Amino acid sequence: MIRQFAGFFFVHFLFLISGHGAQIPKEIRAVSTVRHGERLRDIFDHLKINPVSASQLLELYRRSKEVGIFPGQKYRYVKSKTGYQEIKFYNFSSQRHLQFAIRGSKVDLDIKQQVLRSELVRRSGNVHGSLMKSIQALFGEDPWVAYRFMDAFAFDVKWKQDLKRGSKYFLSIEKRFDGPDFIAFGEVIEASLEVHDELISRKFLSYPDGGGVFVGSENRYGPRELFAPVHYIHISSTFQPRRLHPIRGRRRPHLGVDFELPTGEPVVAPLQGVVTKMGRNRSSGNFVVIDHQGGLSTSYAHLSFIDPNLHVGRRISIGTNLGKIGCTGYCTNPHLHFTVKKGGGHVDPLRVLFPFSYQVAQWRRQEMQSSLQKVDVGFQNNIAKFFGPLLGSLTEARETQKRE
Ligand SMILES: [Zn+2]
Repeated sequence: MIRQFAGFFFVHFLFLISGHGAQIPKEIRAVSTVRHGERLRDIFDHLKINPVSASQLLELYRRSKEVGIFPGQKYRYVKSKTGYQEIKFYNFSSQRHLQFAIRGSKVDLDIKQQVLRSELVRRSGNVHGSLMKSIQALFGEDPWVAYRFMDAFAFDVKWKQDLKRGSKYFLSIEKRFDGPDFIAFGEVIEASLEVHDELISRKFLSYPDGGGVFVGSENRYGPRELFAPVHYIHISSTFQPRRLHPIRGRRRPHLGVDFELPTGEPVVAPLQGVVTKMGRNRSSGNFVVIDHQGGLSTSYAHLSFIDPNLHVGRRISIGTNLGKIGCTGYCTNPHLHFTVKKGGGHVDPLRVLFPFSYQVAQWRRQEMQSSLQKVDVGFQNNIAKFFGPLLGSLTEARETQKRE
């Protein structure tokens, strides 16, 4: 929050300076974040783009049918000394950035395919107060770094029980630059955390076409029954079953986990099963419910659309496409609301899922192994231990499929 306000303050401040005394035009550069509910028109207003150019740009944007700007998206405004203005919205999942330009009375909209230059930053610290605050103290207000660090450990660390005051942590993260400007933090590449006097480490293995997966140096997951329903795991909200908040009184429980991903990313079956419900309602938007063996059932909400091959009663195999990520129903940011029921009651999905999808485990195994060869030998041995139980569980899944 503070970062984006600082960005706007910077812009206004320079306008003020250029309005006084010396008439030498100054260059303006500012990086900001799209806020909730903010539209392109609002951003042009903030930046004081002249109304004629602004409406021409909006018209170009409407006709381009490009995917809309989204909350949390980074953008950069540059005004050169010659008066040329450029507003660029970064999309790191596609590497296709939306670039608006104003030169005199001419306006232009362009899609820039560009991989930003990145630098790796390594920092370590001790937990004081919350882990979130400790990481923010090192990396600034942007919560992304702390959230991404927590994603690496979300499936096996129980934050309240496992983390102690003074626990050590280490992380290395990409910083993305466009020219001289720092735009955003990227992936946490390595992460370590002290849990009960033991250092747990994770590495991020990225795929060449974007995305990636965290792998661990040890198996702390225990028995897992399901694969992840998405290929890239970023958790925006965890399982919170308690109905009563100790201070605020009543509150709504969150009986699932939210996986945040761009609209259109695939949602896949974490295990074979039978579709028992699907459709659309006011709160869940487009949803699907699947029953699996052993009294397990899973549900998927806010889908942008449901795979046309699905229908109630249809048997599906592990990894089947169920639909695509969206923001239908009660939703502010595209995500999958995913729930798991066991014997009729909700359980925390992060305690029964592997931290990767079936496809990632299958299709990417080779890729992972070649990436792992670049990783140091000690780590590689540990990874073998990590993949041990996964291999067992894959065999089991295939055998169950055969039986059906
Ligand atoms: Zn949710």
